[in-house]
Amino acid sequence: EHPMFDYQKKTSSSKEFMNEAAQVMPGGVTANIKYFEPYPIVMKYGKGAKLIDMDNQEYIDYLMSYGSLVTGHGHNEVKKAVIEQMERDGTWLFGTPHSLEVEMGKRLQQHFPSMELLRYTNSGTEATLLALRIAAAHTGKHKIAKFEGHYHGGYDQMLVSVSPPVHQAGDPESPESLPDSKGMSTSHLRNTIVLPFNDAKACKRILHEHKDEIGAVMIEPIQAGFIPADPSFLKGLRQVTEELGMVLIFDEVKTGYRTCLGGAQHIYDVKPDLTTLGKAIGGGYPIGVVGGKKEIMMHSSPVEGADVFDSSQTKSGTAKDVLFHSGTYNGHPMILAAGMAVIDILERELESTLRKTEQLKTGMNELLKKYKVKGQTVGTGSIFSVVLSNMKIRNYRDLQKTDLATRKELDFSLFRKGIYMKPVNRYSVSTAHTKEDIENTLDAFEKALQEVYG
Ligand code: PLP
Repeated sequence: EHPMFDYQKKTSSSKEFMNEAAQVMPGGVTANIKYFEPYPIVMKYGKGAKLIDMDNQEYIDYLMSYGSLVTGHGHNEVKKAVIEQMERDGTWLFGTPHSLEVEMGKRLQQHFPSMELLRYTNSGTEATLLALRIAAAHTGKHKIAKFEGHYHGGYDQMLVSVSPPVHQAGDPESPESLPDSKGMSTSHLRNTIVLPFNDAKACKRILHEHKDEIGAVMIEPIQAGFIPADPSFLKGLRQVTEELGMVLIFDEVKTGYRTCLGGAQHIYDVKPDLTTLGKAIGGGYPIGVVGGKKEIMMHSSPVEGADVFDSSQTKSGTAKDVLFHSGTYNGHPMILAAGMAVIDILERELESTLRKTEQLKTGMNELLKKYKVKGQTVGTGSIFSVVLSNMKIRNYRDLQKTDLATRKELDFSLFRKGIYMKPVNRYSVSTAHTKEDIENTLDAFEKALQEVYG
């Protein structure tokens, strides 16, 4: 029986719903990442580690909304914090500075001491966008360097060589800058230099070649949350960017809170100039953070310049001397209240979540071995991926050499056994996953291996 047969029978309400949704939104989705073939499952309830779909089937969720739900679905403490915040202050949005901005900021700074000053945004995308502007304001240089296969948000500057076709991506030691979307301005491609991840020699050469133009280097210290930088590579990158006066930005939108509370920079003991955070920081509520060295972050200070909307306030020169950063919802009180509850929970429970993740990874690795499957789990902290290859995975191109088609089949097989994962995505474990969830997942994983490889 084709694996999809059973799936379509059991999820007919999702299928029907998606047909209706396509009359309202292109493809029936409001973010392309939420779509997959033949159609996405539509969920209607979530609690703890569980999701229930429109046909009342229950799943153990490992997508956890792309890693953001680090405390699981509907955590009571987070819910209480949001409701209490709203009740205490009457309103849910002041449009003025307020106390939680500082309270939350101080707690973030405890865990990320490199963030001497910080700013809030509403998403990871906005955080990386702001970080790039601050970096350019600091250096006066507008080209940026990023790594092949690294994602920092969907805008023209950074949606470059995130998932390029390998046959077009050029020499692995000098990757091409390729657009990842229709409709992108090609002029950006000249300004975004693509570097090979975990290749210290090539990176050093490319950065030296463009040393007068590149102002900032942005990196996911753990690519896509699961392919770690070699410690010596990250230390080398820190050194070369410092030598060349480039702002080093760690995009920890995925790794923040997931490797440990202090992110990858704590694990590697490497201090970036700027850090961007998102996802888990809000525990499922929209947030982004940019923080870093005081002298760099101060470029975003209004005290230095003026209100761009009010020319009467311009103290020096013209408005273009002022770095623009705004956002109606930045530092939203309800989201910060949720964020503080998330920190409370993780300070208590992150250790045991990391242990449960290890248990799941170990169990999966043993089963892969038992069924003689060429495969492994890759990742640190509470995110990892199942990679069908025995090769050491060090970058995007290595990942493309793995058996992604069978991995998709495995995910569909797991689906039918009540394990939810967007096909070929990462596993994110939350504080809500229980020991029993892990055991049930391993049971399903064994059955799926038998089915796919049997
Ligand atoms: N940076 C990284 C490393 C990410 O993983 C993501 C999202 O997947 C982003 C930035 C963009 O964040 P958001 O989806 O909140 O805009």
